[in-house]
Amino acid sequence: MEELKKKIRDIEDFPKPGIVFKDITTLLRDASSFNRAVDLLGHRYLDQSIDLVVGIEARGFVVGAALAYKLNKGVILVRKPGKLPYKTHSVSYELEYGTDTLEIHQDAIESGQRVLIADDVLATGGTVRAVVDLVRKTGGEVVECAFLAELTFLKGRDRLRDVPIHSLIQF
Ligand code: AMP
Repeated sequence: MEELKKKIRDIEDFPKPGIVFKDITTLLRDASSFNRAVDLLGHRYLDQSIDLVVGIEARGFVVGAALAYKLNKGVILVRKPGKLPYKTHSVSYELEYGTDTLEIHQDAIESGQRVLIADDVLATGGTVRAVVDLVRKTGGEVVECAFLAELTFLKGRDRLRDVPIHSLIQF
């Protein structure tokens, strides 16, 4: 795991001063690291009867699609407003300044389907909190939220006490 951790690059003061951005593109571009990360994460869910994987725009699409392929399941896209062409459910959530919205197709998940949510990094947890609520709106059951990396000092898990969280790498 230390090898994988070293593949994530720190970018200081991005996207604004004071933030240290965990850049996973350096892990993704390395074939053996990407392969290993997806295998390790995916292995955890092989016997969990997952029906669908949900990826969160945009880096979560990469993690979610790779996990879905590994699990031999389909992938659902949770997108920013106005991007999905069919009828949507949407959820708005608080950011540091203002609010943001995410959408899912209303017919993407059938009631009772077992869903794995995937993203690259768990930070404050606001985004994935919104996606858990969105999936539940469709009637889906959230089995777990899976991340390549977690910024534990931001305590994102505190906002997600009602749903299991798993991260491969912790900072
Ligand atoms: P959150 O604060 O958990 O809602 O994070 C929002 C989104 O921004 C997540 O999808 C993360 O991928 C991304 N994110 C937030 N903070 C960072 C960070 N320091 N490094 C990399 N990605 C981040």
